[in-house]
Amino acid sequence: MSGDKRTILVVEDDPLSMRLTVDLLQANGFNTLDCRDGTAALETLKASSPDMILLDINMPGMSGFEVHEKIRQDRRFDGIKVIALSASVMKEEEDRIRKAGFSDFVPKPLDTKGLVRKIKEYLGE
Ligand SMILES: [Mg+2]
Repeated sequence: MSGDKRTILVVEDDPLSMRLTVDLLQANGFNTLDCRDGTAALETLKASSPDMILLDINMPGMSGFEVHEKIRQDRRFDGIKVIALSASVMKEEEDRIRKAGFSDFVPKPLDTKGLVRKIKEYLGE
């Protein structure tokens, strides 16, 4: 049974947020992959196939929007849900996230129970 763990790729530039998110996911029985920027995330995707991606929007270099666009241009990644994480409370940013076609949006600071519940729903658990 434990061999059936789902894998979640976390893309997040802030070390503390990364640590908290990875700890939360592992404590809830998920395998994790972690990348600090979009370039690393796209490289990681070529070599592994996570069940889901948690993607920070505000990152230096490639933004979460750009990373998402590149992911969606590659048919190999069609089945992977991508959830946007953003600390912005701006309505425009939330609208932009929804229009961009992310699977969902989760505001930061993370509501940990809500996030885990949402992930399990999307993974059909
Ligand atoms: Mg960030």
